[in-house]
Amino acid sequence: MAREISAGAVVFKRNKDIKFLLLNYESGHWDFPKGNVEKGEDKRETAIREIREETSLKNIKIIEGFENKISYFYKREGKTIYKEVTFYLAETTTDTVSLSYEHRDYVWLNYQDAIKKLTYKNAKETLKKAWEFLNAAGGQ
Ligand code: ATP
Repeated sequence: MAREISAGAVVFKRNKDIKFLLLNYESGHWDFPKGNVEKGEDKRETAIREIREETSLKNIKIIEGFENKISYFYKREGKTIYKEVTFYLAETTTDTVSLSYEHRDYVWLNYQDAIKKLTYKNAKETLKKAWEFLNAAGGQ
């Protein structure tokens, strides 16, 4: 079976409260920035590259100590693909997002609204863990 190894990040910014960045993928779902690992890259490098390519955000800082791996199956051209995605936690100080052709829309949402907006359960669980991590670290 074909396998895809991807990496991405729960991207957030702090103003009065913490806001998370969600992207609306061409296929319809709402998720975090992510993409497939390329040759010669480690997963953190992939996550940073994908954030830059997909959102054009600068000033991205990976927060040490958070990592959450999910996996799922999907079908492409009739073939089942097994996909693993490792998510990191990334802070930005930039508000302005400029999307690539891969996404239709983006939104910055607080935790409760982001949980509702995310399409998939494993993405909601990733956000919950990231939120708990930030709170435990005194992030709120
Ligand atoms: P990228 O390569 O940038 O990650 P993509 O659109 O090629 O983007 P996915 O976001 O993985 O790849 O979407 C591929 C298929 O998997 C879509 O049909 C999507 O609905 C489904 N999918 C995406 N995320 C999940 C998930 N967390 N759980 C289950 N299915 C998912």
